[in-house]
Amino acid sequence: MESLFEGVKEFNEKDFQQYAELFSALGKRQKPHTLFIGCADSRIVPNLITRTLPGELFVVRNIANIVPYYRQTEEFVATTSCIEYAVQVLDIENIIVCGHSNCGGCNALLKTDKELENIPHTKKWLELAKRVKERIESERIENPDEREWRTEQMNVVEQMNHLITYPYIKEKFREGKINIYGWYYIIETGEVFNYDREERSFKKIE
Ligand SMILES: [Zn+2]
Repeated sequence: MESLFEGVKEFNEKDFQQYAELFSALGKRQKPHTLFIGCADSRIVPNLITRTLPGELFVVRNIANIVPYYRQTEEFVATTSCIEYAVQVLDIENIIVCGHSNCGGCNALLKTDKELENIPHTKKWLELAKRVKERIESERIENPDEREWRTEQMNVVEQMNHLITYPYIKEKFREGKINIYGWYYIIETGEVFNYDREERSFKKIE
């Protein structure tokens, strides 16, 4: 914990000074161009992998980079309100759904009820990827690594589709006012793959 306090001190003394002008300009307003929907996993650092600065990405993270289906509700919905704010207020131009390798959330999707006993809310949350679970189970992939990657990538595409259930996103997407991307990030190599809609496959960004 001590190191986090040290980190803040060093940030103020060093890094902040380097970006002082930028932070000053951002002090009263933000105009991010992209909504980044990623997994809460500690190994995913959106600004690092996109080399973006403060003010560029509006980030929402949750277990397994999930986009809940659009619905009107009186409940407290964090991800949905982030999406709403980014699109309706900040008027972002791009949405990236970014999945990743070795995703604990996607892995949990394929676990038994018994194994998920102590994480009931995570289990409930993962129901939003139920269709991925069903499809993966029907594919009966023998190789565990292949099944893992397939689950994670299929989940990205599934969540991209969920975005279109939001009436205001659907409209902007049709009018070409918003771009929707699906990314797959491999932790150990740093490679990022972008989903190609026509070919229905992930292509390495290079
Ligand atoms: Zn994850």
